[in-house]
Amino acid sequence: MKVAIIGAGLSGLSCAHELEKHGVIPIIYEKNDYIGEMHSHVGGDLRIVHRPIKDSIAYYKKLGICVKPLNTLNRIIHYSPNKRTVIEGDLGYFQKRGKEKDSIKNQVYDQLKYTKVRFNELADYEKLSRKYDYVVVANGNGNFTEELGCWQDWVDTHVKGAIVLGDFDPNTLIVWINKDYCKNGYVYLTPFNERRASLVAIVTDVTEKGIEWLWQDFLYAENINYTIVEEFKLRHKTGYVYPHKIGNLYFVGTVAGGIDPFLGFGQMNAITTGVMAGRSIVYGKDYEKLIKNLVKSNLYMYEFRKAFNRLNNKDYDRLITTIGLPGIKQLFYDTSFNVGKYGGEILKIINKKNI
Ligand SMILES: Cc1cc2nc3c(=O)[nH]c(=O)nc-3n(C[C@H](O)[C@H](O)[C@H](O)COP(=O)(O)OP(=O)(O)OC[C@H]3O[C@@H](n4cnc5c(N)ncnc54)[C@H](O)[C@@H]3O)c2cc1C
Repeated sequence: MKVAIIGAGLSGLSCAHELEKHGVIPIIYEKNDYIGEMHSHVGGDLRIVHRPIKDSIAYYKKLGICVKPLNTLNRIIHYSPNKRTVIEGDLGYFQKRGKEKDSIKNQVYDQLKYTKVRFNELADYEKLSRKYDYVVVANGNGNFTEELGCWQDWVDTHVKGAIVLGDFDPNTLIVWINKDYCKNGYVYLTPFNERRASLVAIVTDVTEKGIEWLWQDFLYAENINYTIVEEFKLRHKTGYVYPHKIGNLYFVGTVAGGIDPFLGFGQMNAITTGVMAGRSIVYGKDYEKLIKNLVKSNLYMYEFRKAFNRLNNKDYDRLITTIGLPGIKQLFYDTSFNVGKYGGEILKIINKKNI
């Protein structure tokens, strides 16, 4: 069986891994000359977001993919304009992103035994679909699915990031929400170690130039004076996709609408859709059925997004205070209560009333 994969990102590499496991050796076309991201940063798997999955690392292992996290995530400090809440516990993991050997993509890449990656090849799904039995489209954006009429825009953001030097706790995530400088998005700080961290602003409804002003506003408002040693900018779009397979084309990762429209998490969905596409190719199983929970969970996240968009800075203060209340904190963080699912169901009703 001849399989081509477009993109050596998390979803494409995970798909190759699953195919190899079943004796199918794909070819990956990668437009860059390296594996990973151009700019280093630290991402995360937040336990509260992935429920009912309890532990992302154990879950990846169950899919056959071994990933060593950069650190465990044991504390989240949330800031709204006038409030601060600290949550502590077993909250998830930090993952390194970038070109380094220990970045999550390179860890998955290292587990491939036979798959060849053709670097510096900008692939086109139309040409490949004539040449191969299956083409897994894993190129990390919605361009191809949009062209094919399966993509519907959800959230369009610009991302401004920096590598900063200072004093950090390697197990702590800091999050700021404030309409004045990130609109409906947020800013977060994730540490590489005690001395180095990534500081990232994800801003909605803004232009590429506009985000520079808001970034300055953020630094000023929050009195951030870390030493900035590197900066980067990206565009980040999420969308709803249907169907996830057309003819011999499989859509995985971001291409398949894998990034959640509320917080922008997509690593777990990238790995899951990659593995499930592999299984569907090998066993002829229905891909839609294999990924239906993931699609549902992003629909719930979209209800969170719609509700969040309606909040103002006063509401942010109330929200941050509320998640710090003992009963709520316990329910959300110390139990296996599926916040995404039940919160999503409730918000769906509220959002309908607010149309
Ligand atoms: C700044 C930032 C922070 C993030 N933080 C988190 C986080 O903390 N937690 C989380 O869960 N998710 C996070 N995400 C989302 C996560 O990175 C994505 O969900 C995930 O990487 C998507 O994987 P993918 O395989 O779909 O695409 P990618 O990993 O983007 O891979 C796509 C690959 O395809 C290649 N490519 C593109 N076009 C072509 C072409 N035509 N031909 C050949 N190759 C091509 C690209 O070069 C790239 O290697 C973050 C994203 C960003 C931008």
